[in-house]
Parts: sequence; C-alpha cells; structure tokens
Amino acid sequence: LKGGATKDIPFARAESRTRVYAIASGKGGVGKSTVTVNLAASLAAQGLSVGILDADVYGFSIPRMMGVTTRPTRISDMILPPVCHGVKIISVGMFVEGNAAVVWRGPMLHRALQQFLADVFWGDLDVLLLDLPPGTGDVAISTAQLIPSTEILVVTTPQTAAAEVAERAGAIALQTRQKVIGVVENMSGLVLPDGGILDVFGTGGGQIVSDSLTRSMGAPVPLLGRIPLEIDLREAGDAGVPLVLSHPESASAKALSSIAASL
Ligand code: ADP
Repeated sequence: LKGGATKDIPFARAESRTRVYAIASGKGGVGKSTVTVNLAASLAAQGLSVGILDADVYGFSIPRMMGVTTRPTRISDMILPPVCHGVKIISVGMFVEGNAAVVWRGPMLHRALQQFLADVFWGDLDVLLLDLPPGTGDVAISTAQLIPSTEILVVTTPQTAAAEVAERAGAIALQTRQKVIGVVENMSGLVLPDGGILDVFGTGGGQIVSDSLTRSMGAPVPLLGRIPLEIDLREAGDAGVPLVLSHPESASAKALSSIAASL
C-alpha cells in the first residue's frame, strides 16, 4: 500500500451504476461481517457482480469467513482481488503481516480506503459492500467523502444497550447526508431443539433502531430482517463458506437471503 492513490474512484463518478452499501454497526461482534459475507454470496448467487471491501482494520474477518486463501496480485499499477464464492474481495487483513494488531490512525485509514477503491481492479460491479469498522469513526466519514452515494445498512443485536449505540452509528448519516437503507437485527432468538425460542440478547433492538432512525432521518428506515442465533451460522463463518451457500434452508440463511433480495 505504498504511495497514494493516483486514480479517481470509479464508484464516485456520476455515471457509475454500482450500488455501494456500507455495513455499519455501533460496536464490534454484532455480526457485521457475517451479514456482509452472506449478503455478498447471496447477491452473487443471483448472478450479480459483487465485491467486498473489508475496511474493518480492527477486526478484519472477511478473508476467513469467505475462505480466501490467495493474496491479491498486481498487474501494472492495479491490484487484482482474489475471488471467492463469486465475490471479489479486498481486505486490510491482506496487507498486514500475520495477525498484527492494526494501529492505524484516521489519515492512514482514509488513504487505504481511497487506494482500495481506486487502485483495485473491481471491474464493472453491480454491488460493492463495504465492511466498516464499528462505531461512528473516521472511516464512515471517509466513505461519505469518497463515495457520497454510499447507502448505509445498520446491524444491531436485539439488546437495548446495543441498539442505542447502533443508532449513533446510523445517525452519522444525517451529517454526511447519506441514505440509511435499513436495519438488520442479528443474534435474535435462538431456536431450541424443542421448538421454543431463547432470547439470549433480549428483544426489540432492531425495531428500536429502525424507529429512532426513521424519526431522526425524517424518512423510513425499515427493519429489513431478523437473523436468529444459529450454531451453523457461526460454523459457516469459521469454515469459510457463507451459510446462504452451505445451508440455504436454515432459518438464518433464509433471513439473510430475503434481506439480500430486498436491497
Ligand atoms: P462483527 O463483524 O460485527 O465484529 P462478526 O460477524 O465477526 O461480527 O461476528 C462475531 C462472531 O459471532 C463470529 O464468530 C460469528 O460467526 C458469530 N455470529 C454472528 N452472527 C451470528 C448468529 N446469528 N448466530 C451465531 N453466531 C453468529
């Protein structure tokens, strides 16, 4: 990642037909990357040309969840992204040694994001998904500056405290004048073997965020779906094959596919 980006960003051009979605969350560990890989795989399976840009410097997990085993290659001054499950993938994790903790500050992050957008050979994408670091930080603002048309998808858990933090992540869009396209509630009720439902993280968080963002944005911000807690979903992430591909019949996969179809 030496030197700065020299090219312009194709997705920022007025004539760009690529829809860019930023997947945002208030805090880490709520399933932002899990949602990102499954949406991407589902959209690619529909025949769309899809890319993921993993900008979550603090918790990059896209390469593992997508089973990426190769590194990006260079062709003259462009970076060629690995392709897994039909999705082009670039991650900050591909540019740091081992599992080194990334202690990048704002300006460096901004530059890396700019370079990933401009110097990666994405081709003619239908959809680009950005996995942002949690919180309301620099990367969200950088995204708004670099691609103003980015639409934001907020991921939260059902927990009220988590919902409050997620609201703040969504509310930044008000300042950057970006559209919040919807809310995804993840880690909703766990289905027990006897058919009962265990609400491990409580209930209602997704609706709270949806209602609150609808009020603050002055436009509908729908709850697009609720994804149950499911062991298969965690295992799919560890195995590097998105659940929508490995177990499309499962409740979580169905919820994720239906969210993808609504984008
Ligand atoms: P984030 O990107 O928000 O940090 P991750 O997508 O990495 O979160 O998810 C955190 C952990 O929780 C991962 O191990 C993931 O496999 C697991 N996970 C996410 N959503 C679910 C779910 N609905 N059911 C079970 N495990 C989940």
